[in-house]
Amino acid sequence: MVDLSRRKIMLEAAGAAAAVGVAASAQAASFGNPDRPAEGAINAKTASATSNPGPQSSAMADQFPNFQNPPATDVNGMPLFWASFNNAHKRQQSGGWAREVTQDDFAISETISGVNMRLSAGGIREMHWHQQAEWAYMATGRCRITVLDTEGRPSVQDVKAGDLWYFPPGLPHSLQGLGPDGAEFVLAFDNGKASEFNTLLLTDWIAHTPPDVLAANFGVPADAFKNIPVDNLWIFQGDEPPPLAAAQAAAASSAGTPPFPFVFSMGDMVPLIKTRGGQVQIADSRNFKMSSNIAAALVTVKPGGMRELHWHPNADEWQYYISGKARMTVFDTGPKAVTADFNPGDVGYVKKSLGHYVQNTGNTELKFLEIFRSDHYAEISLSEWLAHTPPELVIQHLNITKQTWDQFPKRRLDVLPG
Ligand code: MN
Ligand code: MN
Repeated sequence: MVDLSRRKIMLEAAGAAAAVGVAASAQAASFGNPDRPAEGAINAKTASATSNPGPQSSAMADQFPNFQNPPATDVNGMPLFWASFNNAHKRQQSGGWAREVTQDDFAISETISGVNMRLSAGGIREMHWHQQAEWAYMATGRCRITVLDTEGRPSVQDVKAGDLWYFPPGLPHSLQGLGPDGAEFVLAFDNGKASEFNTLLLTDWIAHTPPDVLAANFGVPADAFKNIPVDNLWIFQGDEPPPLAAAQAAAASSAGTPPFPFVFSMGDMVPLIKTRGGQVQIADSRNFKMSSNIAAALVTVKPGGMRELHWHPNADEWQYYISGKARMTVFDTGPKAVTADFNPGDVGYVKKSLGHYVQNTGNTELKFLEIFRSDHYAEISLSEWLAHTPPELVIQHLNITKQTWDQFPKRRLDVLPG
C-alpha cells in the first residue's frame, strides 16, 4: 500500500511536469524515473519536446492517455498488446452481425482469437463446425445452443447473460437468439488464426455435394433438395424456436445425453476470491469439466482498486474489457515496460509469464475477462513470492527495511482496494 501511494505521487508529478512541458527538477535515474534509457515527459528539456502540433484525432488519441504521455517507468519496444472490437469491421446479415479480432489484425495473439456476435430474437448462426475449440461468454440477452458429441449424444440448452459455453474442436453446433431482444456474446477460439468468417457450414456442404450423392446419403430422391440455398446463410433471421423442453425432446437420441454440460453459469457462481477491492470468478476444467482447453477468470475491480502485480506461468492471457476503464503495464526482459489504456469492447494480450497489473482508472466498476489456452487457471503473485522468500534476500535485493517487508501482504490479495 505504501509503495502504491508513492507510485501514485510520482505519476502525478510526471503528469504535472508534462502539462507545463518542462521538468527542470527532473533527475535521471531516480525513483520513478529509471535510466537506460531515460524515457517519459519528466526528462524533457523544453516545452516543444512534449507538445504535439501535428495532425491528430483527439477523439481517438484521448482514449490513450498512457500512450500519449507514458509513465517515466515505461521503456518502449514491445509488440502492441491492445486491440478492440470497437474498430473491427462488422459483417451484418439479416439475423445479426459479427466482428472479430484475429492474429491477422493483432499479431501478438497467437493462442486466442476473439469474436463479438449479435443475434436478433430468432436470429440463427448457421449450423456449422470448425477445427478449433469454441468458448463463449454471454454479455446480454438469451441464446439457444445446440451441439452433438462424438457418441451421438445431443445437447440443447438456453443460456443467459453471465453464462459460458464450450464446444470441443469439430463438434457441430448452432446458436439462436431468443426473445425478447436476442443475444450478444463474445467467443474465444483456442487458436489466434481462427476466424468466424471461415467455418464449415451446413449449407455450403450440401450445395457442393453432387445431387446423386445427397440422394444416396439421405435415402430420398435427389429433387427433394431442389430448393436448397446455393449461397450459405451464415447468420440469418429465423423463426423463434419452440419451448426448450419440446426442442430437447425433438432432438433426443437413444444414445442419451452428454455426461458433462456444455454450459456453465459463471455469473451465478460464488467467487473463488472476494476482497474489499473486488472479486475473481474462475471457470476452468476443474469446475467447468467440458472446458478442457480454455480457462477463464472474470475479474471485478472497484473504483480506485487494482488487480495486483502478477503473472501466469502456464499460458498467454487474452483479455476482454466488459465495463469501466483500466490501464495495464506489461513488463518484459530488456527491461521493457509498456502501459496501455482499455475501454469497454477492447482486447488486451499478455504473453506467458510477463508481469502485469490492471488498475481501475475510472469512477465505475471495472469488469474484464482473462482467458487462457489451458485446462487450468494459474498465477504467481509478486507479493506472495516476496512474502514467502527469506526476508534477508528480499531486503538485500530491494534495499528496503525489514519493517517495510513486514508490511507486505503475506498472501495473494488478487484485487486490492483503492
Ligand atoms: Mn462455432
Ligand atoms: Mn493476469
